[in-house]
Amino acid sequence: MPKKEREKKEKRGVWCYYKIEGDKLARINRKCPRCDSFMAFHRKPQPRWYCGKCHYTEWVRERSR
Ligand SMILES: [Zn+2]
Repeated sequence: MPKKEREKKEKRGVWCYYKIEGDKLARINRKCPRCDSFMAFHRKPQPRWYCGKCHYTEWVRERSR
């Protein structure tokens, strides 16, 4: 009998390039204004868009008040 494995929490990776809506695959990426490649969204430590190519970072403005 296989041991009961703990269910792994779904990792919402920082490398999520696509968002699944129903059975559609929607692109949620931004494009880098510098080199025009896709940017990855990072939530930690602070929400930002990051380009892996040219290391351009765009900070996400959070609503305050
Ligand atoms: Zn870039």
